Amino acid sequence: MTDPLKPCTRSCVRAGTEDTPDYLPATHGAYCARCWGRLDQALIQAPELAAHILGNITNTGGASDDRVDSSRDAPLPFNQAAFDDVSELYGLLVYWCQEWAGYLEVREIAPTARVWRRVSGTVIGLPANVTPEKGSAEVARMTGWLRDRLDEILTLAPDDIDEFDEGIKDVWRMAARWPLIEKPRYSKMPCPELGCDARIAVFPPRAPGGVKSVSCDSGHYFPEEEYDALTLRLTVDRLEQARQARAEGRARQAAARTEQQKAEDVRAHLWRKYGGEHRVESA
Ligand SMILES: [Zn+2]
Ligand SMILES: [Zn+2]
Repeated sequence: MTDPLKPCTRSCVRAGTEDTPDYLPATHGAYCARCWGRLDQALIQAPELAAHILGNITNTGGASDDRVDSSRDAPLPFNQAAFDDVSELYGLLVYWCQEWAGYLEVREIAPTARVWRRVSGTVIGLPANVTPEKGSAEVARMTGWLRDRLDEILTLAPDDIDEFDEGIKDVWRMAARWPLIEKPRYSKMPCPELGCDARIAVFPPRAPGGVKSVSCDSGHYFPEEEYDALTLRLTVDRLEQARQARAEGRARQAAARTEQQKAEDVRAHLWRKYGGEHRVESA
């Protein structure tokens, strides 16, 4: 069971509360919604991204064996960089499925047959002639397995979780490198993470009722709820600043009026004192 009052293992604080830290609770394993959400969102996006990137390859090479070798005469235009990206991601996902299966003592998910392996048996990546559909489905099998166990995984060795997190961040890097047709909207708010002023990309929900995905160009991820709270606060802050500016303007105007009034009072006083006496004398 997760103790809702225990803070995230990484001592994450709600953005903007660094001075008086509002620690985010460990709502997923030993981690907060932000740490979990960054991983979960990347895993959600990976299959679609894989299909998109593999779809950019106009000819998947028609290779007869499973090995992609850039030195071989690949039919052009064969986009080696695109294939390498998805293949690396796939290899990474297979690696982590195996690692976590070992920790959790559950049977690991088997990668596709004809997968590209080292002689030692380590999976390197996808078969060279994989179609976007097959490649995406393979990635989805791995990400589905990981997502189903993500809360459990987030109770395991923190060092390995950090490494897993770092590896999975590749999804954001790949998303930036091979942008989907659906362009993100950029937030007016710069990234609120300390020392980071990068732009924040907001991707609309993938499906009706889904959540939008929010991350800055440097890879800081924000759960929808936290992002909405931050933008709301920014809007409130701006309205408050505008209100204060108007109040100051009014105060300045009032002060100017007071000065003018004082001058008039003095004139009236002098008039009563001297002008009046003069009138009395002349009466
Ligand atoms: Zn956290
Ligand atoms: Zn950032």
